[in-house]
Amino acid sequence: MTLTEPMRTEATALEPSSCMICGGHTFRPVGISSGYRIFRCTDCGFHFVYPTPSLSEIAAIYEKYSSNTHYSAKAERKVVRAMKQIRRYRHLAHGNRFIDFGCNIGTAVEAAHRLGFEAYGVDIGEESVGIARKEYPGGHYHAGAVESLPADWKDFDFAFMIEVIEHLPDPHAYFEAMKTRLKPGALLYLTTPDAGHWSVPKDFTAWKEVFPPQHLHYFTKDAMRRFLTDHGFEVIRFVWSAKSRLKVLARKR
Ligand SMILES: [Zn+2]
Repeated sequence: MTLTEPMRTEATALEPSSCMICGGHTFRPVGISSGYRIFRCTDCGFHFVYPTPSLSEIAAIYEKYSSNTHYSAKAERKVVRAMKQIRRYRHLAHGNRFIDFGCNIGTAVEAAHRLGFEAYGVDIGEESVGIARKEYPGGHYHAGAVESLPADWKDFDFAFMIEVIEHLPDPHAYFEAMKTRLKPGALLYLTTPDAGHWSVPKDFTAWKEVFPPQHLHYFTKDAMRRFLTDHGFEVIRFVWSAKSRLKVLARKR
């Protein structure tokens, strides 16, 4: 996870003025969860917490959220699952340099390493990255914001971004920084909750994925396609999922 301070130009406004994904101006309030108001853009279906919580408000939550004991217990299973995903899509990647954005304790980095990639991972969580370095020394790790990556962390061929984008106060800023590290033609595999999935309850706030301030943005396929296109990625395809999960393969132009 890497956090960037969001734009605060309308911090005091009670209603959003434009959709960060499509620029639309019409919204429906869909409810309140843990005191945070959630709106839906009627043009693209993007759902979002508004106002966006401040970075300090979010950081306070992650202090508590980053208890990794529960992850560590399941770590080997996560490595195996990530190996399956990497194997499934590696034929679409044109090279050997892999990076996991939001790598947590490094299970996907380890998976890529075992499969012969030069494997890198970045995460804002110092504690998680400390565990990754110790448990999976075959990978390279960076603790901090994506904007703070070392200069030679570049020319990646294959990027993972698993359950990260919904947490980011400013997904646009994150992508602007992230994409400079990828080669043209690089493959991106991104997953996030699917707000357009048939199984999402009519009462949006009853959906299990709605838990602000951890989850701030809820994409639909349409919103995700627009977002990726705006950042210079071409959607290869959405991978079918029985669960309310968007899984997208995209290529940097
Ligand atoms: Zn929109």
